[in-house]
Amino acid sequence: MTVDNLIGMSRYRLQPTPAQEQMLAEHCGHARFVWNLAVEQHRHWKPGRTSAPGFAEQCRQLTEARAESAWLRAGSVTVQQQALKDFAQAMANYFGQSHRKPTWRKRGQNEGFRIVAVRPGDVRRLSRKVGEVKIPKVGWVRFCWSRSVPHGAKSHRVTRDAAGRWHVAFAAIPEPIPAPGTGEVVGIDRGVAVSAALSTGELLTAPTLRQAEQERLARLLRKLSRAKRGSNRRVKVKLAVARLKARESDRRKDWIEKATTDLARRFDVIAVENLNISSMTRSARGTLQAPGRNIAAKAGLNRGILAAGWGRLVERLEHKAPGRVVKINPAYTSQRCSACGIVDAKARESQAAFRCRSCGYAANADVNAARNIRDTAAGHAVAARGRSGLPGRTNREPHPDPLSV
Ligand SMILES: [Zn+2]
Repeated sequence: MTVDNLIGMSRYRLQPTPAQEQMLAEHCGHARFVWNLAVEQHRHWKPGRTSAPGFAEQCRQLTEARAESAWLRAGSVTVQQQALKDFAQAMANYFGQSHRKPTWRKRGQNEGFRIVAVRPGDVRRLSRKVGEVKIPKVGWVRFCWSRSVPHGAKSHRVTRDAAGRWHVAFAAIPEPIPAPGTGEVVGIDRGVAVSAALSTGELLTAPTLRQAEQERLARLLRKLSRAKRGSNRRVKVKLAVARLKARESDRRKDWIEKATTDLARRFDVIAVENLNISSMTRSARGTLQAPGRNIAAKAGLNRGILAAGWGRLVERLEHKAPGRVVKINPAYTSQRCSACGIVDAKARESQAAFRCRSCGYAANADVNAARNIRDTAAGHAVAARGRSGLPGRTNREPHPDPLSV
């Protein structure tokens, strides 16, 4: 296994010439246009109506659209078809409840396109620090060879972030990480107070901006609100804001890669809540879907991290530990005492503290939830009264085929 697979990130800074940059931006525009067309079509779909067009039908419509529009026709059909495929995948993820429903793409935000069927010769190294990647209709575009490029990448994605930086990411699905073979099951709760809590008692926190960076961001946002629309100053400030946000998002992505590699290495079975992200964010706005969640605190959370971060975490776990990730029904995981099994809506003393009024068991609320998740996955309905719930207790317990849960 290469270092890249362990780190998981294989994103490189692209260095397009100004002319290439213009063509890349065209590809982004086409991909966005096609994607939004697909969103539009699915908007009109309501239960009971004839189904929204599938991928094949959309490809036919794309052909028509290309015949009518010189602008689209000038672009790469590969790029445009791939945008449709990505959309189909996004819908599948949505129905599989791992991701939010795909929505409109806006100009300047998360711009990008994907190239598939990449051949080995389409990426080459020029010197120690410089590589080149072949992009349809653009040709060879240089990138900064900041680390080794993973072998066998079947596709790559070119993106332009809000700060105007271009990247290419080679999508090599990481090789599965072998299970340690200890039989150990870990439960992970999508934390409210922290990013994730493990049934072992560990609390994982995704990095955010540092104090000084947060202050700088606050200053920039104030400046932005005062800057005149369309002024040069506004553009400058906006760019600086985008750069800070991109830095934060990079850090979180790195963190997710490291955390998921670590989990896949340490545990045989990884249990997570089967969260419907869309209902989760809805519930933050007021409808109670999963009982026992603190709505007020949730609403105050950074929903971006919840939605994007959690989906990505689970997705990477499934890549790295295929067949070892168990999704369980989240009902009552935060209200149930992991020691005695009593469900008690009032046991949650505060956002962070769980205290069972029946057996006296006290724990971090997210850790308690993580233990319930672990136990559900491991197939034991919470065991008898008096269970200590000490970290690592289940390590030595045999678990009856958790994968069948
Ligand atoms: Zn209890």
